Amino acid sequence: MSRSRYTPRERRHRAIHAFIDRDCPVSALTPGTKVPVKSCPQCDIKSPDYVRHHGIKDCPHKPDMCHGFHAATLDHDKAQSWIDRYPDLNFAISTGPAGLVIVDLDTNKNGAPVPDKYANIPGVKDGYDVWSLALERYGARHPTDTMQVSTPNGGLHIWHSLPPGVVVNKSEGAFGWLVDIRSTNSYIIGPTSVTKDGEYRRLGDVTEPTVAPDWLLHHLEHTGHKPKPPARPRPRIIRQRSDQDDREYRGKTVQDLAHELATAQETERHAVLVRVTAAAAYLVHRGLCDEAEMRDAMYDAGRDAQRTDYEIHKAIESALSYTAGRAA
Ligand SMILES: [Zn+2]
Ligand SMILES: [Zn+2]
Repeated sequence: MSRSRYTPRERRHRAIHAFIDRDCPVSALTPGTKVPVKSCPQCDIKSPDYVRHHGIKDCPHKPDMCHGFHAATLDHDKAQSWIDRYPDLNFAISTGPAGLVIVDLDTNKNGAPVPDKYANIPGVKDGYDVWSLALERYGARHPTDTMQVSTPNGGLHIWHSLPPGVVVNKSEGAFGWLVDIRSTNSYIIGPTSVTKDGEYRRLGDVTEPTVAPDWLLHHLEHTGHKPKPPARPRPRIIRQRSDQDDREYRGKTVQDLAHELATAQETERHAVLVRVTAAAAYLVHRGLCDEAEMRDAMYDAGRDAQRTDYEIHKAIESALSYTAGRAA
C-alpha cells in the first residue's frame, strides 16, 4: 500500500493542506472526536466568562478556532498553527462554501424500528437501502466516478460538487430515513480523521468529487433541499391554429389529460405520458392552464401511472420547450 509512506497523523496534516488547495475551507475538530475544538471561555455560552454575542461575526475577539465550523479557513498558515497546537486534531470541511453536496448514508446502528413509510418495501434496513430506492426510482446507478468516504461506523459519504450557482439547503430527513444531505450551513468530517471507532477512509482511487448528476439535483429539488428555480415566464402567444390542433385538443382540460394518463393501460403508459404532457404544454401556451397547475397535474397522474419522477420531469420539460420552440 503506497499510503504507508506517511504516518496516519502525517496523512491527515497533508490532507488538511490539500483540501485548502482545492478551496475547501477546513475547521479543527477535537482529537479523536467529530466535535469542533471547544470555544474559548468568552465564546462558550456555558462558561462564567462568556461574553454575550451572536456568533463569529460579532465575536469580541478575532476568533481562531472558536465557533466551530464557522471558523473554517482557507489560510494554510492558520491551519498549520492548529496542527502545531493539536497534532492529533481531526478536521471538517465546510460543505457550502466548498461548493459541495454530500450524501451521508448511515447504518441503523441503534437498531431503530424501520419507519412506517418503508414497512411495505422489503429489504429496507438502513440508509443504504433508502439510497438504493432513490437510484431505482430514477434508473440510476451508484456512482463509481466520484470521491467516497467510508465512516468508522459503516456509513458512507458520497461526495459531489455543485454546478455553479446551485444551492442545496438542509431539509431534515426529507431525502429519506438515515440519509443526510450536507451542503449549505453544514460540514463533513475530513477523510483521514480518526475516532475511537476507526478512520474516515477514502475508498478506491477516485480523489475528486464529480458534479452531482441531474437525477440527484432533481430529487433534491423534489425533497425540498434545492430551491426550485423561478419558473421561466413563458409568453402566451396567440397563433394561428391548424385544424389538426383543434381536433386534437378541442375541449380537453388538463384534468381530462391527467385522467387519461392515470388510467392508461400498463403497456401504453410511457407513450400516453409523452402525448398528454405535450397536449398539456399546449394548453399552457394557449393560456388555458397555468404552468404550475399543469406540472402538478402531470406529476400526480404520472405517479398514479407508476412513472418515475425523473421520467415525468423529462416529459414535462421537453413538452414545454418543444411547444415554446414551435410557438416562437
Ligand atoms: Zn472565542
Ligand atoms: Zn466568539
